[in-house]
Amino acid sequence: MMLSMKKLSSEKTTWKVREVIKWTTDYLGEKGCQSPRLDAELLLAHALKTDRLGLYLVFDQPLSQRERLIYRELVRRRASREPVALLVGKKEFWSLDIMVRSGVLVPRPETEILVEVVLEECKRLTDGSLLEVGCGSGAVICALCRELPNVTAYATDISAEALQNTVANLALMNNPQSASIFASDLFESVRNGPIFDIILSNPPYIPSNSIPQLEPEIRVFEPKSALDGGPEGLDIIRRLVKTSRNFLKPEGKLIIEIGDEQSEAVSDLFQTNGFSVVKDYNDLNQKIRVLKGII
Ligand code: GLN
Repeated sequence: MMLSMKKLSSEKTTWKVREVIKWTTDYLGEKGCQSPRLDAELLLAHALKTDRLGLYLVFDQPLSQRERLIYRELVRRRASREPVALLVGKKEFWSLDIMVRSGVLVPRPETEILVEVVLEECKRLTDGSLLEVGCGSGAVICALCRELPNVTAYATDISAEALQNTVANLALMNNPQSASIFASDLFESVRNGPIFDIILSNPPYIPSNSIPQLEPEIRVFEPKSALDGGPEGLDIIRRLVKTSRNFLKPEGKLIIEIGDEQSEAVSDLFQTNGFSVVKDYNDLNQKIRVLKGII
C-alpha cells in the first residue's frame, strides 16, 4: 500500500492520536525506517510537547490544526530519513536526555558499554582523572560526570560543533560534577606527561569503503569525521593507541570502542604499543565492542 503525505494533511478534518500513530507507522515503514512505530510516537510526542507515555493519555483526542502542521513537517523530514534524534533535538543515553544537533554523532546505545567499563574501572579510584578523546555530543562525559563525583574529568574534540554541544549538555545537566572541555586533535593540545588514570574514546572506526553502504540516517545526516576511520577503519585508533601511553599514569588504562571485526587488529596494536593486558567486552549482539588496555 503506498501512502501519501496528502492523506495526513487534507482528506480528514479530525485525526486522533491513535489514528495518526497508526498512519505514520505504515508510512514510515514504507519509507524504509527501521522502527516506524517508535519513530511515530517520538515525533508525535515532540509535536504535542509531551512524552511517549503522555501520548497514551490523549490517545483518543484529536490533534489541533497547529499540532498537525508541526507533526506533518516532522514526518516529512523523517520520511527522507533524517534521524529522529536530530528532528527532536535529543537522544536518551544513560537515562539522560542528551541534546543533539546536526554536526555531532547521535549517541548509540552500544556506547553505554564504554561508560560501564569506565565506571567499573573507576570503582578502584577514590579520586583520579580521566580524559575522553573525541567527546562528540558529550553523552559519554555527561554520563561519567553524573556517576563519578570524585573524578576530575577532561574531554577533547577537534570539532567546534562537538565542543559546543558537549558544553551545552554539561550545562543542561546541572550536575555538581562537570568536566573541562578543550579543542584538540587527539592529544595535540594536551599537556605532556603521565596525568590520567583513564583515557577513553569512541573514535571514528568505520572503514571508508563501508560508508556508502550505511543507512541514509548515518550516511547523509551524520558527520563523516565522526564515523570514517580510513581504509580499515583503524587510522584514528592507531594514533590513539600509539600516543596515549605518554599520557597515562603507571597502571593507567586505555578504554576504547571499536568496530565489528576489529578486536584482533586493535589488540595487536595495544600489545605492540606497550599495553600488557587487553580485555574485551561484548555488546548485546555478542560482538566485541570495547577493548581495555592496561599499561
Ligand atoms: N557505532 C557507530 C555506527 O555504527 C559508529 C561510531 C563510530 O565510528 N565511532 O554508526
